[in-house]
Amino acid sequence: MSAPQAVSKDAKVVVVGAGFAGLSAVSTLVQAGFQQVKVLEANGRVGGRVCTTKPFTRNIIELGANWIHGQKGNPLFQLAKKNNLLSEEADEDDLDDYFFKEGGKQLSDKLGEKVTALFEKLISKASDSKIDRKYRSLSLGDYLDAAFAESSLASSGDGPRIFEWCKRNECTNEAASSLFEVSAYQLSEYIELDGEFYNCLGPGGYQALLDYLMKDLPSGIILNNKAVKSIQWDLKPQGGSNHPVKLICEDDEIFEADHVIVTVSLGVLKQKAATMFEPSLPQSKLTAIEQLGFGTVNKIFLCFNERFWPEDCEGIQLVWNEGPEDKSVYTSHSEGEAWKETWYKKICGFDSVARHPTVLCGWIAGREALHMETLQDSEVKDTCLRLLRSFTGWSVPDVSKVLISRWGHDSRVLGSYSSVPKGVNGFEKQKELGEPLPLQRKASDSKPLQVLFAGEATHENFYATTHGAYLSGIREAQRLINHYSTKKK
Ligand SMILES: Cc1cc2nc3c(=O)[nH]c(=O)nc-3n(C[C@H](O)[C@H](O)[C@H](O)COP(=O)(O)OP(=O)(O)OC[C@H]3O[C@@H](n4cnc5c(N)ncnc54)[C@H](O)[C@@H]3O)c2cc1C
Repeated sequence: MSAPQAVSKDAKVVVVGAGFAGLSAVSTLVQAGFQQVKVLEANGRVGGRVCTTKPFTRNIIELGANWIHGQKGNPLFQLAKKNNLLSEEADEDDLDDYFFKEGGKQLSDKLGEKVTALFEKLISKASDSKIDRKYRSLSLGDYLDAAFAESSLASSGDGPRIFEWCKRNECTNEAASSLFEVSAYQLSEYIELDGEFYNCLGPGGYQALLDYLMKDLPSGIILNNKAVKSIQWDLKPQGGSNHPVKLICEDDEIFEADHVIVTVSLGVLKQKAATMFEPSLPQSKLTAIEQLGFGTVNKIFLCFNERFWPEDCEGIQLVWNEGPEDKSVYTSHSEGEAWKETWYKKICGFDSVARHPTVLCGWIAGREALHMETLQDSEVKDTCLRLLRSFTGWSVPDVSKVLISRWGHDSRVLGSYSSVPKGVNGFEKQKELGEPLPLQRKASDSKPLQVLFAGEATHENFYATTHGAYLSGIREAQRLINHYSTKKK
């Protein structure tokens, strides 16, 4: 973090939201010497989409973010490493995914490895802007299908089915109902940092990183259970107040500010942006909010009294019989609501969970994940047990405890993370989303930098991640620091 600089100690700054973006913003401002800063957080806890819990044993479960993605240039990886917060558990290279077909037949490891390796290669090509020109205007799903059709694995018995599994699995990375909705070429704007992609945190999980960020903050700076209802900006001096921004909370408490940094999720903005701001947001920002994607990914944790899967099994993956020709099964625009009856087909599989030898974690994304949220825990649990029993043919005991995330219906998030839909210029829209208000000094009496925007969805290269959120908070804090440093010169 940069060295403290001379800033206006009197500038009143309010940060809305205490996820990674809000916490990095406030800690950067405090370190730089800002003294009148407050964070208003709607929930009774900090962290937002980072939610470290202990529902089963003394060991943690991450209901939201779990990994730090990439090492080189990842500030959260560096923070975690410097403070000994990374997992010290041995690398689990000797573990394998077990792929099962409908009806209890296990697929060959070799075929699974070959198809997943090809899939990774195709995705990497898209991420590195190296996909053939002919594929560039396609959706990610269409590009993958076309490229796979050129491979010998396309005619290798179960190859196409495993490839469909890979696509379903990729939906969790994209928080999408279907890869046919996601842009192939836009993937290249997302930068995958070098080094191991899946870095695990130690026994304290992501909460330990949040605690680290908060450790030097003055007490009382974060106000919990303080949901902001509306933000009035561009106010002219009146009745002794010279602050251009006023925040009104759901409990009617009012906060005045010179600057507000809004870090609420894109999901919350999609639902509330039209009514939350007065005057309303400029059209460019409203369009960015509407056009960028914000999908749902959920986790289903099943805790058993005893382990029934082998020690070397990293995950039990479910390969359905539908092949690539069944595109409509996974497109959100398919007719009718029949897909609700088969929502469980979107569950990719059940992965083993660090420090929990008897817990499996099921993953589900998209509209099916949202639909799953409407069901009772018991129904979801029974469905998962049915799948595990029928796919593996193993003797699977009953589940003793279950924990299911419901991010899509969490009114403080309304989804899981952002993505770039097909046909949308992600880079441009993310930039517009992150632009501060007023857009320019349209009139000399409008104060600059009244409403600033941070949060993962505003990061052009690291969207959908914790480090993207973290860096976006620093970016906006630094914008204010620069503003006051320049003013002093
Ligand atoms: C299931 C899941 C798995 C994930 N896995 C990973 C992973 O492994 N690695 C990774 O890098 N990323 C992962 N992510 C994404 C990552 O969690 C997010 O990108 C990141 O945490 C977003 O941080 P943020 O600060 O932008 O937003 P948030 O964390 O959403 O913070 C916004 C805050 O604003 C608050 N708020 C909302 N409305 C109001 C209001 N009106 N007034 C006041 N406060 C309000 C919210 O309560 C919240 O605390 C995952 C996310 C999910 C859901």
